[in-house]
Amino acid sequence: MVSHGRERPESDMALRVRAIEELLTEKGVVDPTGIDRLVELYETRVGPRNGAKVVARAWSDPGYKARLLENGTVAIAELGVSGVQGENMVVVENTGAVHNVVVCTLCSCYPWPVLGLPPVWYKSPPYRSRVVREPRAVLEEMGCPVSDDMEVRVWDSSAEIRYMVLPRRPEGADGASEDELAGMVTRDGMIGVAAV
Ligand code: FE
Repeated sequence: MVSHGRERPESDMALRVRAIEELLTEKGVVDPTGIDRLVELYETRVGPRNGAKVVARAWSDPGYKARLLENGTVAIAELGVSGVQGENMVVVENTGAVHNVVVCTLCSCYPWPVLGLPPVWYKSPPYRSRVVREPRAVLEEMGCPVSDDMEVRVWDSSAEIRYMVLPRRPEGADGASEDELAGMVTRDGMIGVAAV
């Protein structure tokens, strides 16, 4: 049987975390809305910043981009980014001909070091099953239609491999600095469910 990341104990862990959270809320130690906000912050802002840095470097430096596509793990570590759930990274490039999108059909494997915490929809059974069967329909519903002349590739996280999409560089960003470029990169763009 293939081990699928380190997620198997998640339900146990999730239960324990919830029990602790409920206890702390009951005792008035924590405010649950504050926790929700913190989780959201990590999902959308803090977590994906490392990925955005990687993307911006790839957009600015063709040599780095080549290394990134050749060996994602090593090139990402060049920027000081590595860790659990990012030990075997594969970066796939969106082009004018190919659109890539990432899923974990078995559970919710996700490249934590570059993207932070997975969004709820990423872990949801409808996304996981449908994006494989009808990727174009799912992408369209998520606001990321892909034209018929483009190929859609769906990457299913398997065993230890974690995928990240290198989005297309936005047009009209020619004079932008690497920091400015990083600011344009979104989490959803690196999962492949949004254009940047
Ligand atoms: Fe998984």
